[in-house]
Amino acid sequence: AKAAGGNRFELADPEADARAITRHGLTTALPTALDRGEFFIEYQPLVHLGDGSVRGAEALVRWLHPQHGVLSPDRFIPLAEHTGLIVPLGRWVLEQSVRQAREWRDANGGDALGPLRINVNLSPCQLTHPGLVQDTVEILERTGVTPDALCLEVTESALIGADDDLLKPLRRLAEMGVDIALDDFGTGYSNLANLRRLPVSVLKLDRSFTQSMQQFPADPVDLKIVEGIVALAHSLDLAVTVEGVETGAQAEQLRILGCDTAQGWYYARPGPPDRLHELALVDATG
Ligand code: C2E
Ligand code: CA
Ligand code: CA
Ligand code: CA
Repeated sequence: AKAAGGNRFELADPEADARAITRHGLTTALPTALDRGEFFIEYQPLVHLGDGSVRGAEALVRWLHPQHGVLSPDRFIPLAEHTGLIVPLGRWVLEQSVRQAREWRDANGGDALGPLRINVNLSPCQLTHPGLVQDTVEILERTGVTPDALCLEVTESALIGADDDLLKPLRRLAEMGVDIALDDFGTGYSNLANLRRLPVSVLKLDRSFTQSMQQFPADPVDLKIVEGIVALAHSLDLAVTVEGVETGAQAEQLRILGCDTAQGWYYARPGPPDRLHELALVDATG
């Protein structure tokens, strides 16, 4: 605070202060928010680039805060990680999402449309929590969903320099048939050769690559980079998903470059579970 005329306690940056107050308020409200049922999940379709069919969805958590309205995960996931709430919250998201996958399957009359797969984000704190494998196994058993319908997304940065202890639970899950995706791929500095060591089966190419495909044709250097990543991924038997696809031109470029699956506003924004089911139905019945 600096002295300025009559306003002796004028703050240097009132906006930063307001943000700090909100952050504090959110942190205090977080633990009860789970008990009060203030979190909900939106689902965004994952679309096969070759034929345009809906293959599954990514679960994205939101917080319906009684005063602030709907908060995006960027506002509260870091706080939940800091306070440790991310472990029960993450477990809740996993259970809800897997249950939802089961409901879609039942609504489809078994696997008539082909099983819709469910992608769930894992925080690094959940990776180091000893209950991860057990919780996941129990949730799959309780819901009667097979492991191959589940994909857990872990960010590239969470696995950079990961030692064997950190990778062990992911290996166990991968052996059971759960897919592991490397999220935000290309934003970290992971050694590409290191990919072989990781129990991943999907690369999720970060949105920044998709953004560089805005122009048609895109910058030749950007094209070469994506082409190289896709070739490397495929040579290691990894599928490539691209995120942040906002235009048809981007989808087309990325399809030509050999990417397998896409996600983005061009197809659908994240939405309620019924919406996802409608999209999958429309897609299957033509
Ligand atoms: P993410 O895993 O990279 O998720 C993709 C984000 O991109 C989502 O933001 C999604 O709404 C947004 N998105 C999708 N399509 C487009 C597009 O075409 N254009 C643009 N500009 N954005 C698009 P959202 O839902 O705000 O989630 C932000 C991040 O929060 C996620 O990034 C993820 O890291 C984290 N998150 C979300 N749900 C969970 C969760 O249940 N657990 C954990 N640990 N993290 C979560
Ligand atoms: Ca993700
Ligand atoms: Ca991502
Ligand atoms: Ca991201």
